[in-house]
Amino acid sequence: MEQHIDIDELEKLCIQEKNQESFVNTFVKRLLYTLAKDKYSATARDYFLSAAYAAKDYLVARWIKTQQEYYYQDVKRVYYLSMEFLTGRALGNNLINLGIYDACRRSLEDAGLDLQDLMEYESDAGLGNGGLGRLAACFLDSMATLQLPGYGYGMRYEYGIFYQILKDGYQVEKPDNWLRYQNPWEIPRPEFLYPVKFYGEIQQHLHPSGEFHYTWVNADIAMAMAYDTPIPGYGNNTVNTFRLWSAKASRDFDLQFFNRGDYMQAVEHKSEAETITKVLYPEDSTMQGKELRLKQEYFFVSATLQDIFRRYDKKHDSIDEFPNKVAIQLNDTHPALAVVELMRLLVDERFIPWEKAWDITTKVCAYTNHTILPEALERWKVSLVQKLLPRHLQLIYEINHRFLDQVWIHNPGDHDRLRRMSLIEESPEKQVRMGNLCIVGSHSVNGVSELHTEIVKNRIFRDFYELTPEKFNCKTNGITQRRWLVLANRRLADLIADYIGNDFVTDLYQLKQLIPLADNPEFQQKWRQVKHENKLDFTAWVRKHPGERINPDSLFDFQVKRMHEYKRQLLNVLHVVYLYLKLHQEQYTEFVPRTVFFAGKAAPGYTMAKLIIKLITSVGHLVNHDPITRDRLKVIFLPNYSVSLAQRIFPAAELSEQISTAGTEASGTGNMKFALNGALTIGTLDGANVEIREEVGEDNIFIFGMKTHEVEELKAKGYDPLTYYNSNADLKNVIDMISTGLFCPETPDLFRPITDSLLYHGDQYCVLADFASYVACQQQVAETYKDQETWTKMSILNVANMGKFSTDRTIQQYADEIWGVKHTPIEMD
Ligand SMILES: *Cc1c(COP(=O)(O)O)cnc(C)c1O
Repeated sequence: MEQHIDIDELEKLCIQEKNQESFVNTFVKRLLYTLAKDKYSATARDYFLSAAYAAKDYLVARWIKTQQEYYYQDVKRVYYLSMEFLTGRALGNNLINLGIYDACRRSLEDAGLDLQDLMEYESDAGLGNGGLGRLAACFLDSMATLQLPGYGYGMRYEYGIFYQILKDGYQVEKPDNWLRYQNPWEIPRPEFLYPVKFYGEIQQHLHPSGEFHYTWVNADIAMAMAYDTPIPGYGNNTVNTFRLWSAKASRDFDLQFFNRGDYMQAVEHKSEAETITKVLYPEDSTMQGKELRLKQEYFFVSATLQDIFRRYDKKHDSIDEFPNKVAIQLNDTHPALAVVELMRLLVDERFIPWEKAWDITTKVCAYTNHTILPEALERWKVSLVQKLLPRHLQLIYEINHRFLDQVWIHNPGDHDRLRRMSLIEESPEKQVRMGNLCIVGSHSVNGVSELHTEIVKNRIFRDFYELTPEKFNCKTNGITQRRWLVLANRRLADLIADYIGNDFVTDLYQLKQLIPLADNPEFQQKWRQVKHENKLDFTAWVRKHPGERINPDSLFDFQVKRMHEYKRQLLNVLHVVYLYLKLHQEQYTEFVPRTVFFAGKAAPGYTMAKLIIKLITSVGHLVNHDPITRDRLKVIFLPNYSVSLAQRIFPAAELSEQISTAGTEASGTGNMKFALNGALTIGTLDGANVEIREEVGEDNIFIFGMKTHEVEELKAKGYDPLTYYNSNADLKNVIDMISTGLFCPETPDLFRPITDSLLYHGDQYCVLADFASYVACQQQVAETYKDQETWTKMSILNVANMGKFSTDRTIQQYADEIWGVKHTPIEMD
């Protein structure tokens, strides 16, 4: 029975009361009534939880109002589909965006509580691997700040990215049970529960109209349940919805067993269905091809599309307005099945003719490519798709057939082109190419930096670019300055605000006002002071947590990102060994003391990346305890790189290592976070480094190494790493030190796989070819660091020219050029 109650007036009163209530008041009510604790029984975590619930209370009225407005105005909405969201902690960010961070800190202080300490009790939401997942999180912040009707859709993994610890210098993975102590931000929505089918068979019926209809029968069913998290914009009333799916067993399914009286088997099957959202796959830039992963991808897409249709159907009787009301952005190919599932829903369930369904699908879908590494391009075995998603395979073949007909018309006789562009890779085992599927099914295909977009157009997807050049475009990545400057680096944000006001928080180009201050001695002095204090904080933290002593006056040099051969942490280590060698040869009169920090997780199955971690920690073990290098050179591997560790690192950084082989890093966003916090970049002309150089000017960045075309040319003519090894005595020395076991005397062959990969297995990422140039560039860095006025000026000019790298700019471009969603301000009465 539907119940209607009249609480409008009461609701208004409640909201009014809430708006007048002080933060501590709400906080104490939450402690009492939500957690049932008093000051005797409350733990520090209870205080965090109370603060989070209190902050959420402030968001609720605006959240409801925002969703009502979207509904009443029937605005076009954008759905950002991502299998990963690396959001990190929310409390500090939400308080900043609500504009109550300082007020809240002070009022908690009056009650004897330290906000910073409380914030440490929040678990870091690690539902992503690295840059791709972090980008999605920054996008949510910018969509809300720009007051756009945007939704994040993702997976509520019970276990996020593993927790990394070091044992004897090796990475060891621990489960990340982030939901162990309740998640105060999420609201379970058991009313939004959708069935998702797997396996089964397809029945074909001849409909009286003369067409065939298809039904999917005898399928297993898992249920998807929604959990919602509010995403507040900065300084406005917009609160958008971030919806994550959790797998639950279907009651119908269990019933089969109950009916047979098999209670235990019913429970067993329940946990089987629920494994779908159990754990995030920890591979970054490689695909695994596991059945459970494909299940996750389809589960995600199916639940999300059902939810999108439910919302659309509330306001519309015909499908015709669908492309005017819905935009779907596919974050990489992980949600590629959305293209096929949308066709299935339109054709099989709504009986829309194929051509019209296809027109709608391609108008709605847009695809972002994130990598050109061949091992990362998703391909699924046809046999697996056939078994798990039989109807989808039929639809893929139909899409492919019609698409290849078009290609043939444009390029008659070009069989090779058909083979390259087919959605199906023919040999040796047939596979579905998810990238091709996304391109064919979307009206927009974007790269994430200018250089990467050129590579997408001219290399990996050249045939598609030739067929439909209008689809291809670039949306250079960014980062949100709310988290990565205002929250992470309060000191720097306050100094900047003292001079140019607060507008940079919503308009990062305002930082240009710092340009005239770059030479100002008083401003420079304050700038250095901020960095110094941040370094002292970081030094104290490193002393307490990893338990290392470091020299706070040394150059703080960071390479923090996923461990991957293409990112070339190895090149950095070779340089460290080189410095160690030179210090021993006493070749320096004025050595610039350095602390070289590394942080990053290796995929658990990526043997080489894990061995490189062991090399870093082994080099650190020797170097850090050598009296000759004491206080002049230290190597620290910081365990468990995560969003919250990142927020500690960037404010303290002076040098940012962005040294991937040219043509391999799609964009990078760590590079932007460093520069926004005043670190100078040493980097190759790769990804967004190219655009950072354009913005800050070539005098304010340290660029070295081969360019993309030079890497290609070198490889084309036959790259022989041994010629570099044999002709550079320092390089030879450095490699020999590693290969002969200087850093691992107990097991001298330990690092041979590394040196062998460089010398005898082709050095795929051209570490040796770029070594000399890197070393020379690092010497430039050290020389410049000796002149603190010049260094400070460069640092200020880096920050001043970061305007382009806000996700506010990125998202505005997506909104205008791809999605067609409109600024929708929310008024509170
Ligand atoms: C920004 C960020 C990344 C991406 O770093 P890149 O250097 O661009 O690869 C990865 N992980 C975390 C936790 C981040 O904050």
